[in-house]
Amino acid sequence: MTQYRIPFNKPTYLGNELDYISDSLSNWHVSGDGAFSKNCHRFLEERLGVKRALLTTSCTHALEMAALLLGIESGDEVIVPAFTFVSSINAFVLRGAKPVFADIRPDTLNLDERQLESLISERTKAIVLVHYAGVACEMDKIMAIADRHGVAVVEDNAHALFARYKGRYLGTLGKLATQSFHETKNFTCGEGGALLINDAELIERAEIIREKGTNRSRFFRGQIDKYTWVDFGSSYLPSDMLAAYLWAQFEAAELIQERRREIWAYYDARLQEWSAAHGVQLPTVPAHVEQAYHMYYILLPSLKVRTALIRHLRARGILSVFHYLPLHLSDMGRQFGGEDGDCPVTEDVADRLLRLPFFHAFTREEQDDVLAGLFSFEDWE
Ligand SMILES: *Cc1c(COP(=O)(O)O)cnc(C)c1O
Repeated sequence: MTQYRIPFNKPTYLGNELDYISDSLSNWHVSGDGAFSKNCHRFLEERLGVKRALLTTSCTHALEMAALLLGIESGDEVIVPAFTFVSSINAFVLRGAKPVFADIRPDTLNLDERQLESLISERTKAIVLVHYAGVACEMDKIMAIADRHGVAVVEDNAHALFARYKGRYLGTLGKLATQSFHETKNFTCGEGGALLINDAELIERAEIIREKGTNRSRFFRGQIDKYTWVDFGSSYLPSDMLAAYLWAQFEAAELIQERRREIWAYYDARLQEWSAAHGVQLPTVPAHVEQAYHMYYILLPSLKVRTALIRHLRARGILSVFHYLPLHLSDMGRQFGGEDGDCPVTEDVADRLLRLPFFHAFTREEQDDVLAGLFSFEDWE
């Protein structure tokens, strides 16, 4: 394996995480929904203004809960951007849904709302959208279309915790939203996630599904005197040790986001001239959006140039990585009818996008090193 001087990611780690894990052990509560989980739930609910937040074992599992809560069944159609992580749609495919792949906008790389209505059919049950790189989709238009057709919107908000659209937090706009605390995300506990519930009618059922189909949450709140099997369900709650790790990072939310803002802004300022000179496209952040500073990507002129640049940076000990392969052209996507040319913007962007190193502990020296790597690249033909 190549040793990189500068990795693409290092998980966020501040120092208090281990103290809090140790506290969870001294509390004698290391299973789910202990004191640290409750802190995390309250923090997300109060900070974002969502009706209920529930930690889960991953964003993938929160998406699976969303599919169960929306009653997705065989034959239902779910619209999803072709440019996203597989879990955004796999959670629904697991319940028998047929994915309908939407193309993305060439500027924000988010689901193209101008094409959305033409993808809706009698069978459409949900639209899953992704706020790519922590920059909001065009939510007013998307929600208006979804409401007109009675289709639920699920925000896969893995990139966009604390980002806003016209002043409103992402994750509060769809019926449901999901977060990821995987080690590559702004806030992490290794593996983890959350389901955000904006429709009060789904709260009790969500608690039941997350607790093995039992009404144990009501029991712990003293609302009933014994708990029992009341519905289908599974086990989606993380250990309080993981919640303890996450809580240390939520307590430092401003610090973490400010650090990422600085890294993002420095890349963006230093790359203006260089990108203009070489026909490289930098990220677009519309004025009505406050982004989450999840990643910094560049769009190169061609696949050939991208391949050469990855190699050039690697020779300097720097790891840069491309992103999603178009979902409709994957083995599974093709089984659902995906064909070359269905989503031309996705296909083009997937070939040209490159993500630069970006993590909490990234130093200015390291970032200058990455920039020097970009500036010394000459193979533009
Ligand atoms: C990371 C990510 C996921 C999956 O998150 P896990 O917590 O690893 O399950 C889903 N969707 C998007 C857009 C992601 O970036």
